[in-house]
Amino acid sequence: KSPSLKEENESRILVFVRVRPLAKNETEAGSRCCVRVVDRRDVFLTEFASEKDYLRLKRLRGRHFAFDASFPDSATQQEVYSTTTSELVEAVLQGRNGSVFCYGATGAGKTYTMLGTVESPGVMVLAIKDLFSKIRMRSCDGNHAVHLSYLEVYNETVRDLLSPGRPLVLREDKQGTVAAGLTQYRAYSTEEVMILLQQGNHNRTTEPTRANETSSRSHAILQVVVEYRVKDAGMNIINKMGKLSLIDLAGSERALATDQRTIRSLEGANINRSLLALSSCINALVEGKKHIPYRNSKLTQLLKDSLGGTCNTVMIANISPSNLSFGETQNTLHWADRAK
Ligand code: ADP
Ligand code: MG
Repeated sequence: KSPSLKEENESRILVFVRVRPLAKNETEAGSRCCVRVVDRRDVFLTEFASEKDYLRLKRLRGRHFAFDASFPDSATQQEVYSTTTSELVEAVLQGRNGSVFCYGATGAGKTYTMLGTVESPGVMVLAIKDLFSKIRMRSCDGNHAVHLSYLEVYNETVRDLLSPGRPLVLREDKQGTVAAGLTQYRAYSTEEVMILLQQGNHNRTTEPTRANETSSRSHAILQVVVEYRVKDAGMNIINKMGKLSLIDLAGSERALATDQRTIRSLEGANINRSLLALSSCINALVEGKKHIPYRNSKLTQLLKDSLGGTCNTVMIANISPSNLSFGETQNTLHWADRAK
C-alpha cells in the first residue's frame, strides 16, 4: 500500500529512501553491501550488528530509520515513480503545486532516479508521460497546456539548461519568484522530452577540479507547469495552473556539517548555500514554524511557491549500499530522518 498525501489545504512531506545496486567496480574493489531494506520501509545498516539483532537494536538503541517507503536495489524506476510522485502529478492537474527532491552523496543514484537513461527513464520522464496520459483521459479539447523549464543553480548562479547563456536574474512577481528570460518549452508529447532533458543535463556545470564527475555541486530543477481552464458555478471561465518541480540536488557530501561554525564557513565559500538553505526551510516546515527562510538562497527562492503551504513535498534519499560509503549513507539517512 502506498503512503498517501493528505487532503487539500494540508501540507505534508513524504520521505523515501532508495538503495542503488552495488556497482561492478565496487564489488571488484572488494566492497560489501552494508544496507538492508526491511519490510519495504525500514533501512537497516548491517554494519552495526547481524540481522538477528535487528529487532533488539531497533527497540533498544533506535539505530534504525523508518520512512514512508524504502526501495531496495531491485526496485524499478516505475515502482519508484508510482510510489513517490504519481499522486503529485494528479494534484498538479487539480491546480496544486508540488516538489520532488533527490538528496544524497555524489554517486548515490540521484540523477539515475530523476533523469534515468533512455532504456530506464526516471521520475522526470515518467511524470511527464503520466501527465500526458492523464490529460488525454480527461479531455480531448486541448484545454491543457504543458510548459517545461529546466534550470540549474550552481554557486548561487541560475542558468537556463534548455538555452545556455548568461546567468538569469531572479525577480519577484505576483506568482512568486521567476527567472527572467527562462525558456518555457511547450511540450506536446513524451517522446521529445527525454532528449530535451538529456541535452539539458549535458549543459550542467562540470566542476573544474573533478572533471570526470559532472554536476556534483549543481542543482538541476525541472519545472512542469500545467495551465488549464475550468468553468466556475456562474459558468465563468477561469484560468488555473499547477506546477511540479523535480529537483536533482547537488551532492550532499560537502553540506553535511552540522555545527554552526562550519556552516558559516561553507556559506562564506558559497559552497552549497542552496542545499543548506533547503535543509533550513524543510526543518522549519517540519517544526511548523511560521517563518520559513526562503530568501536565504537561489534554490529556495525559486521553490518558494512549491514548498510548504498547501504544496506536496517528496524527498527521495539516495544511498549507496557499499560499506565504503557507510559514513555518507548514515549522514543521508539522518538528514532524511529529520525531514519527517
Ligand atoms: P548521482 O547523480 O547521485 O551522483 P548517479 O545517478 O549518477 O549518482 O549514479 C551513479 C552510478 O550508479 C551511475 O552509473 C548510475 O547509472 C548507477 N545507478 C544509480 N542508481 C542505479 C539503479 N537504481 N540501478 C542501476 N544503476 C544505478
Ligand atoms: Mg548526478
